[in-house]
Amino acid sequence: MSDPSPATPVRVGVVGGGQLALMMGEAARELPLSLTVLAARDDDPAVRVADAVLVGSARDPEALADLARRVDVVTLDHELVDLDALAAVESSGTPVRPGAAAVRFAADKAHQRQVLGRSGLPLPRFVVVEGTRDPALSAFLAAEGGRVVVKAATGGYDGRGVYFPTSRDGALEVVAGLTGPVVVEERLALRGEAAQLVVRGVDGAHVAYPLVSTFQAEGTCIEVDFPALGVGAAEAAEAATLAERIADIVGAVGVLAVELFWTDRGWLVNEIALRPHNTGHWTIEGARTSQFANHLRAVAGLPLGPTDASARHVVMVNVLGGDEPHEPPASRPGLAVHDYAKAWRPGRKIGHVTATGAHQAATRVAAWEAARAWGSREEEPWHSSPS
Ligand code: ADP
Repeated sequence: MSDPSPATPVRVGVVGGGQLALMMGEAARELPLSLTVLAARDDDPAVRVADAVLVGSARDPEALADLARRVDVVTLDHELVDLDALAAVESSGTPVRPGAAAVRFAADKAHQRQVLGRSGLPLPRFVVVEGTRDPALSAFLAAEGGRVVVKAATGGYDGRGVYFPTSRDGALEVVAGLTGPVVVEERLALRGEAAQLVVRGVDGAHVAYPLVSTFQAEGTCIEVDFPALGVGAAEAAEAATLAERIADIVGAVGVLAVELFWTDRGWLVNEIALRPHNTGHWTIEGARTSQFANHLRAVAGLPLGPTDASARHVVMVNVLGGDEPHEPPASRPGLAVHDYAKAWRPGRKIGHVTATGAHQAATRVAAWEAARAWGSREEEPWHSSPS
């Protein structure tokens, strides 16, 4: 597999059959690869594009071993996996990219914060505690005046497992209700949020995507804008350098997404993901190589593709199911509609739309009109445009 050619496609196994695996499958068509997906259900989004499908749990060591036997390399659609089982796959000889030790950073916010903190990266002030009796907790709550955010170390995503208590007692109550390690951190006054994606190859070489602005509602990302709004070239370069440092520290292979807070202390690292990320969906239409193609290239040991933007403005809007199901609008030039073909449920992420254009405001309007036509329950977040 060190010298793949179209005659000998690399067999890539993906743990998970969600929308990220679906978009990997779409990207794989253009690459000398075949994709086998370990899906939780036979109607998961990626089932319709995979070359082969196994149905089983990502937490089942047998299912992971079965996937590993059929492929040359294993990668992930999500990090809700059994890390010991993933490590066992690695020791059995099938490479896992990113490897279990790297995936732990994404699966465990406490581990992530502690290691990145020791490496001197700029982070929110935080403590890791277990239970309310930990003396570190009372000292931290006193120092922060009770204005904190509480995050379960494992199992959370899209705002689940993240709590915004309004008082010291409220914080204690949240911590008391959680089992296992908990990250308690300062509640920041955010000037904005951004995401920096880098891709790291097996050889340690990186490519960085342009920085994007992100907008969230109730802890879930709803909009991503390229170029990042109101960020100068020096700050953007700083974000790319931070992400490349993190990719080296965690030993990433494939896409590493770094969610960043923009504050009066500059960039602070919120959290990282070691897989294609929602904040990189814009690259499918908006960059010369999509994050999905570059992730697969990296894990398969193929050369990485160029990451520069191919449009002046790109706006991606996530579509979260509203009160009733609607048909998705049609794609057209300048507007791409991605339907994950998931059963509709209010609040569930059912797809995304990406608009490309020459002007920021018009591009945003096109993306939001399409999201609304699809019945998205989200409101357009207000933000000022520098352009
Ligand atoms: P998840 O892992 O579910 O994505 P995050 O840790 O990224 O959760 O938090 C979700 C959102 O909550 C962030 O994008 C941000 O808007 C807000 N948030 C998280 N931590 C803080 C903080 N320390 N201060 C202020 N806002 C925060």
